[in-house]
Amino acid sequence: MSENKSGSAARPSVETILTHHGRRPDDQFGFVNTPVYRGSTILFKTLDDLDAQEQRFLYGRAGNPTTESVEAVVTELEGAYRTKLVPSGLAAITIALLSCVKAGDDVLICDSAYEPGRKFADGFLTKMGVTARYYDPRIGEGLADLMQPNTKAILAESPGSLTFEVQDIPALARVAKAGGARLIVDNSWASPLYYKPLALGADLVVHSGTKMFIGHSDAFAGTISTTEEAWRDVENTRALLGFFTSGDEAFLVARGLKTLAIRMKEHQERALEIAHWLEEQPEVASVLHPALPSHPDHALFKRDFTGSGSLFGVVLKPAPRASVAAFVDGLELFTMGYSWGGYESLCLPVKLGKNRTAKPWTEPGNLFRLHIGLEGVDDLKADLAAAIARYVQAR
Ligand SMILES: *Cc1c(COP(=O)(O)O)cnc(C)c1O
Repeated sequence: MSENKSGSAARPSVETILTHHGRRPDDQFGFVNTPVYRGSTILFKTLDDLDAQEQRFLYGRAGNPTTESVEAVVTELEGAYRTKLVPSGLAAITIALLSCVKAGDDVLICDSAYEPGRKFADGFLTKMGVTARYYDPRIGEGLADLMQPNTKAILAESPGSLTFEVQDIPALARVAKAGGARLIVDNSWASPLYYKPLALGADLVVHSGTKMFIGHSDAFAGTISTTEEAWRDVENTRALLGFFTSGDEAFLVARGLKTLAIRMKEHQERALEIAHWLEEQPEVASVLHPALPSHPDHALFKRDFTGSGSLFGVVLKPAPRASVAAFVDGLELFTMGYSWGGYESLCLPVKLGKNRTAKPWTEPGNLFRLHIGLEGVDDLKADLAAAIARYVQAR
């Protein structure tokens, strides 16, 4: 869809991209949606065909029309050269990092990064002879002081999905470029609807498609979108490691993407309403939501983002574990569990310990991470109000 129907070359809106992009009904007997393709073997008709290796699909591990239907949409949304669908968000992070490094290299990771990504760096990259160091997510241009000649990748997550620091991606991109390193940005929180890291200078963008893209808490996927320059290394790394994403999972991502714009809008509005309301509650020490004027990175957020996500943090005034238990155990609508991005609201008490090394988290009180789902917003407020009352009572 390089042109719209009137023939003008104006860029279509994200809603139109989500609705029309990646579908090829003419290739599917007119069926509106690309169906689930499952298959390993793809047939060649002649020896010439086999030798030429020019067919659109050669072997099912590299992809199929269902996975490509997702990749086309994400590429368009991110303004990328290409996108690869991979089995999970964590796989997107590990493949992206591995695509940048060889033995003897170094990577810099933001201290607020998704914890399993840190574990991969500390437990796996280091075993392969790659050093991993961590930086304060608010470091900005100061990252230049940490760069070494062998630093080949910088992994940023903006905002961090537990503590919500916004990073100065244009500044990090300048440092990365000057030092010959690639900048990888985890964009799961805002989605490409509200944040475009490649346009801000990043080289690779990763998503946990498990979250907003799929949107229903029922499957895993990840995506890696890159510039033209970074693409070959990503696709080679994925292919060599044998990562494969099934057409079944891809179908669920494609289905979720159709409603991403309206879901993001609803999640954003509800999350903002609840965040503002929480700020007024006496027991609340702070609300960690970059779209609130009280957030330390609000100026950066306003400069670089066009909207906000479903997820934010709330810190309640100090109280013992019994209060935390009273808060979560009695919730009626919010449920407790990992992940986020589904239609249902989630609440997770957060412990920040070993997973912060460059800039330890020192804010007193108890941090809860909230994912605001699609329930009635007044019902969610009532659930939280009762939880706060229990928290106070149990102190
Ligand atoms: C959940 C998450 C991931 C990992 O995604 P999975 O699909 O669960 O592997 C990566 N980054 C962020 C910010 C996440 O929230």
